[in-house]
Amino acid sequence: MSNETIPFLDLPGQYRDLAHEIDPAVKRVMERCDFILGEAVSEFERTFAAYIGVPRCLGVGSGTDALQLALRALEIGPGDEVITVANTFIATVEAISYVGAQPVLVDCRAENCLIDDGAVAAAITGRTRAIIPVHLYGQPAPRERLQALAARRGLAIIEDAAQAHGATWSDGARCGTWGRLSAFSFYPGKNLGAFGDGGVVGTADPVLAERIELMRNWGAKIKYHHEIKGFNSRLDTVQAAVLNVKLQYLERWNERRRELAAHYRRLLAGYDEIILPEESPWTGKHAYHLFVIRLPGGDRGAFMEFLGRRGIQTGIHYPVPVHRQKAYLDLGYEEGRFPQAERVSAEVVSLPIFPEMREDQVERVSATIGDYLARRAD
Ligand SMILES: *Cc1c(COP(=O)(O)O)cnc(C)c1O
Repeated sequence: MSNETIPFLDLPGQYRDLAHEIDPAVKRVMERCDFILGEAVSEFERTFAAYIGVPRCLGVGSGTDALQLALRALEIGPGDEVITVANTFIATVEAISYVGAQPVLVDCRAENCLIDDGAVAAAITGRTRAIIPVHLYGQPAPRERLQALAARRGLAIIEDAAQAHGATWSDGARCGTWGRLSAFSFYPGKNLGAFGDGGVVGTADPVLAERIELMRNWGAKIKYHHEIKGFNSRLDTVQAAVLNVKLQYLERWNERRRELAAHYRRLLAGYDEIILPEESPWTGKHAYHLFVIRLPGGDRGAFMEFLGRRGIQTGIHYPVPVHRQKAYLDLGYEEGRFPQAERVSAEVVSLPIFPEMREDQVERVSATIGDYLARRAD
């Protein structure tokens, strides 16, 4: 067996493959010097919107800002409550805090780590304004029940699609087309990643699109004429130039991620000691931003160390659910409040998955997991 390191993801490898396209695209921006809201930004906004199938996309500074500006576009602020799930990346909840609204957390389902749509109904109060479902790990959140609930109670859905570029529901609709607004991140490690921070807000509502467009640029459409108090949060032209190149590969890359996930599934199917990630019945194309298994035996640290010693990098997404983060203890959720989120946070391990990964690397990871489990049994 080879000793080469199997990285968690291989951004240098991806750059080497695409340097012949990316370098000239970036050079063109440097030559034009249209660094702020330049040509490549509007091109990316158009092509990404067409790809997702949402009428408008507005480039902003990050996925976190995309969420924040989406909340602000709906004029959500102090006195309002926004419901989201306890096991997400902290940014989902921080965006709610930024606008001065109250984050209200609910549990996830253990089998798919997605928001428990049944728990949302019980969390709605007279102050609730929006729900932020997270398409965690690249899998679409449950749509039908939340949609019905939102419609009945007059709530907005804001999709956190930061991990789900190109993912679809079983009817073929892509993540990002469901909510009043949706937020994507182009953080370098995402399925579609820039060479720094970046994000977009997607929406079908022209009034909301207009607000986002103003807010990201100090409230001005015409230079020095400020209609509202805004922010400085724009997708850089250089980043858009990189994204224009990479967007052409996204479908292929996601397809490859699904092949690798299927290969893992075949190879790991026989081990009762681990729980493989479940594809939900409403999922069409899972984007497999992450391939997350669960290890209920309480020996995750030893497992990761064993793989690490054999050159296999793994990750934990996420080790501490939001309500147990020090930063959010002030929400007052005690330990045990969201048992599924707490359970999965103790059990999850993310295995390497990236479009440049080879079949034999999946085989080596799987065989090493087999070795670990055999030794544990002794
Ligand atoms: C990455 C991520 C974000 C934040 O995006 P940034 O571009 O890093 O600000 C928000 N939510 C989720 C679920 C994410 O994975």
